[in-house]
Amino acid sequence: MKHEVVIIGSGLGGLLCGSILGKEGWRVCVVEKNKQLGGNLQTFARNKQLFDTGVHYIGGLSKGQNLYQVFKYAGIMDQLRLEKMEAAFDHILLENDPEVYVQSQGYDAFISNLAAAFPEEKEAITRYCEKVKDVCGRFPLYHLTMDDASAKNEVLDLSAEETIAAITPNKKLQAVLAGNNLLYSGVAGKTPFHVHALILNSYIESSWKCVDGGSQIAKLLAAEIKKQGGTIIRNCEVKKIVETGGAISHIETEGGKNISARHFISNINPATTLYITDSALLKNVYRKRITGLPNTVSSFSLHLVLKPRSVPYQNHNYYFHKEGHLWNMNDYTEASWPLGYGLYLTPDRKDPRYAATISILTPMWFRDVEQWKETYNRVGKDAERGQEYEAFKAQKTDQLLTLVKERFPEIVENIRHSYAATPLTNRDYIGLEDGSMYGIQKDYNNPLQTVISPRTKIPNLFLTGQNLNLHGILGTSLSAVLTCTLLLNDHTLADKIRNA
Ligand SMILES: Cc1cc2nc3c(=O)[nH]c(=O)nc-3n(C[C@H](O)[C@H](O)[C@H](O)COP(=O)(O)OP(=O)(O)OC[C@H]3O[C@@H](n4cnc5c(N)ncnc54)[C@H](O)[C@@H]3O)c2cc1C
Repeated sequence: MKHEVVIIGSGLGGLLCGSILGKEGWRVCVVEKNKQLGGNLQTFARNKQLFDTGVHYIGGLSKGQNLYQVFKYAGIMDQLRLEKMEAAFDHILLENDPEVYVQSQGYDAFISNLAAAFPEEKEAITRYCEKVKDVCGRFPLYHLTMDDASAKNEVLDLSAEETIAAITPNKKLQAVLAGNNLLYSGVAGKTPFHVHALILNSYIESSWKCVDGGSQIAKLLAAEIKKQGGTIIRNCEVKKIVETGGAISHIETEGGKNISARHFISNINPATTLYITDSALLKNVYRKRITGLPNTVSSFSLHLVLKPRSVPYQNHNYYFHKEGHLWNMNDYTEASWPLGYGLYLTPDRKDPRYAATISILTPMWFRDVEQWKETYNRVGKDAERGQEYEAFKAQKTDQLLTLVKERFPEIVENIRHSYAATPLTNRDYIGLEDGSMYGIQKDYNNPLQTVISPRTKIPNLFLTGQNLNLHGILGTSLSAVLTCTLLLNDHTLADKIRNA
């Protein structure tokens, strides 16, 4: 057989599995539907400026930290072009409050900078940090070990909103501590505290930006896979995963090609994986559970090219919430949208004192663009969505910029070009039918329902990607380590990575 493992999808999870397995001597074949590899790692250019799709900043990349070790083991760490963010990685802005609240790298700085804004709350801020650290300490894989993980079961049912509210009754401090909850699409009554903690802790440990975009991660991983003798096929959508005699025999591609292997890893959404796998081994109750899980909200993104040397560059991000909408930014009406946003700057490489581009992100449901759902747009397969769609984007751009202008008039006055991406763009470039940002919505009410094992009932079909444990660059990378551990049946893999 030509390939030992076929990996469906070249998102971070798929590529990382490919490079780890390639290192073990496996013959890897990655099959990607798009022209550009990387899924959410993709970048695109407009007016000679580069924009990221889904990587604005990354945590855990200082020497010896979890993601640093994974990327080192995968052979790409030395080649990544990264820029450390300034001490305060996120600035939190609240409606009707002119203050700027900062979240800083390093727990001491995190506490002292927030305590400067909330002097009476220093003890609560310290307790919050201890809680975050305690919860993170219960997830062995997060620390690259395969030790007993039972201690985490005690915290899986903690709500992010309620846990923070129990630490401090101060509403403003609550809004600041959870101010960047767009990072995990924070939802009242659903978002678990551990999702908040695992993500926040990684940025407090260290926060980084990719110089010239996150697509470098995909390019470097793909180069590793090829160096190890692997194959990467682009522009090739997998239409079917075929089971014969109790195991997957091959996949069928858009062009009618069959590719066989001993093992298969799906890096695409688990529900989509099930839709394209026709096998009685995948019982109806499993199918029903997985396909019935709601996804996180999608997004509307505005990508701005600024007039040269007009807006000073700041090496931190901004998050804004309208008052009373911290945990329900997704519950907007047509009139109240948007209820908040995240704002990310990139420097002008010719004169880094200034910003060259800005991306602004806010939640948007797929239902808002439902009427154009029959139009598909991909590089090389462009579809016209028509005037009405253009008018919709223009109106939403106006609404979002009106809100942004309240805090950032200098940005809105210095826009040279603006480009909008909607849930349809997300759907077409990544593959989730509803354009969801982070895949399956985690839910503390029924935590085990939303945790998906890399194993399936088909012995040679495995899953990987952001839907398994945790989304994000760190979460997806750790899931790839877990998938490879099970596939290789090597419980020392995490140790090897930790000690690399
Ligand atoms: C707007 C946005 C901003 C984000 N910002 C950050 C951030 O700042 N920091 C951070 O850590 N994380 C961020 N994330 C999250 C992070 O980018 C993702 O969690 C992560 O990249 C997901 O990787 P994945 O391996 O699950 O695959 P995905 O990126 O989902 O890739 C799946 C791949 O499978 C391919 N595919 C789908 N169907 C098929 C098929 N049938 N056949 C072949 N190929 C197929 C797709 O084309 C795609 O390439 C952001 C996400 C979004 C959407």
